[in-house]
Formats: sequence, C-alpha cells, structure tokens
Amino acid sequence: MVVVVFMVKVRIDEMSWVEVREALDNGFDTVIVPVGSIEQHGPHLPLGTDTFVGEALSVMIAEKLGKTLVTPPITPGCSQHHMGFPGTLTLKPETLMQVVRDVCKCLIKHGFKNIILLPTHGGNFAPIETLIMELAMEHKDVKIISPLKLEELIKVMNDVMAEYGVTFKEAGVHAGAAETSAILYIKKDLVKMDKAVEGFMGEYTISQLYSYGIRAISSTGVLGDPRRASADAGRRMMEKLAEYYVEKIKKELKV
Ligand SMILES: [Zn+2]
Repeated sequence: MVVVVFMVKVRIDEMSWVEVREALDNGFDTVIVPVGSIEQHGPHLPLGTDTFVGEALSVMIAEKLGKTLVTPPITPGCSQHHMGFPGTLTLKPETLMQVVRDVCKCLIKHGFKNIILLPTHGGNFAPIETLIMELAMEHKDVKIISPLKLEELIKVMNDVMAEYGVTFKEAGVHAGAAETSAILYIKKDLVKMDKAVEGFMGEYTISQLYSYGIRAISSTGVLGDPRRASADAGRRMMEKLAEYYVEKIKKELKV
C-alpha cells in the first residue's frame, strides 16, 4: 500500500521558530498557504476533503519546488452553497479574505518573498483572486500568486480520471470519482465506500450551484459517481496535480 508521507521540515506548524529562522536564512523564501473547506462531500467522504487534498498537495509541491515551506491549511472556506447539509461550516468571502490577508502579512513580516495561495475548494477561488489584486498593489516586493484557476484544477483531476476510463460526469466536480479517489489515496480510513452513491449526473452550471445551493441539484450532495473511484487513480491524480502546479508556479515566479 502506498501512503503519503509528510516531510517533517516543510510544515511550519511542525517546526520551531529557530528552524523557520534557519530555513529563511538558507533561502527558503517561498511559502504555500492551502485554503481548504469544511463542507459536506456526500455520505461517503469527510467534511475535510478539500482541506486534506490541499495540505497533502501543498507538501508534495513544496518538496518538488525545493526551498519552500507550507503553512497549516486555512479553514473554513466559503461554502454557503453547501449549508443545506449538516456539519458544513462557512465564512463570508470578506471574512476569508481578512484571515488570509492577516496570514500573508505575517509571512511578509517574517521575510517570505513568494507566497503561493492554494485554494482547493471552488468557493475560495474568487475571494483569493480579489485579495491577491489588493495585496499586489500594497506589497510590490513580494510575489503573491494563486497559480491555478478552478477550471484548470478540475480539468487536471478529470483528465487523470479519463486515463482510468472514468467519464467527466462520473469524475464530477464534487464528491464524485475524482475527489473520492484522492481521499482513498490520502486518508483511506475516512472513506465509506459502502455509502458511496451515484450523484446528480445531469447538466448544471457553476453559477447555478452558487445561486441555489447544491441541495437543490443533488439530495445527497454528490455530483458525479464516486463508485468509479480508486486509490491508484488518486495517487496518479495527486502526482499529476503536483507536477502541474510546480510548472505553473515556476513560470509565474520565474524560478
Ligand atoms: Zn471538494
């Protein structure tokens, strides 16, 4: 069985301040901030799904990039459209922006020169992009980026699922085969495959999801078919995502 092994000296919450100081002195001036969610992911996946994907992915990216640290994931995110399901926690977009803004200012104060904001939940992308525009004007000496658009993230995930014979609709954008595969790989013990059911497989738009809430479209909260998931697809997906992010980050930071 393959498991994700977190490198001890990448996450700042696992380091002492002395180790962070030494890392900064040794050129670790890039930091990744995962921005996750606590929201329903169907009857079979944990509410922390997006958060677990974000933190595992951030560590994988940091290891590939080198000289990069990772903060603990920021949660909750903006999950208003999932509030029809118990357990979901949500922040208003302005609250999320305030929290991430404060975290960025701390990182800047400590000397980080490249801050990579890494949303892994759809509702977080717009507030993070808006915040980046604001921070970029204020801090000209620091690069603050969010390397992928939501559509790109979904495409990379679903392209990997296609390699496993899973259609775009089965892979789904929420709690379908794609996300289920990722959690089967990262935190298998939290997946209840006996509860995995086919979700909504019809047509919808992202703006419908945000306007009416996911419950209006899917009574289980699932979009896609999680029964088509596998841990091996999850492993490949995480590797592909990490590679894709690293390429984009290198281009944007020109490192
Ligand atoms: Zn998700």
